[in-house]
Amino acid sequence: MRTPHNEVAAYVIGALDDDAATEFEKHLAACQKCQCEIRELVPVRMALEYAAELGLFSAPDWIPTQRQPEPAPAKPSCYDRLRRAFLLVTGR
Ligand SMILES: [Zn+2]
Repeated sequence: MRTPHNEVAAYVIGALDDDAATEFEKHLAACQKCQCEIRELVPVRMALEYAAELGLFSAPDWIPTQRQPEPAPAKPSCYDRLRRAFLLVTGR
């Protein structure tokens, strides 16, 4: 069954559309379980991105990367969302 709890990984890799990501962020603000998962998964996602930049790892095409142009620059990018979510859960 699809619940916000099991959309953490999809959110972190940027696989949710804007509406679903916004819904997840509302859930995240109040859910400690998902906040814990965000704290663990966001650094892993960033490490994989860095490894891809160094040529140590090839990210699958379906994972959006920072270097791909955003289709709608006015909307927050996947990274903007992740940064906000990480700040929310870490308080940094
Ligand atoms: Zn949750």
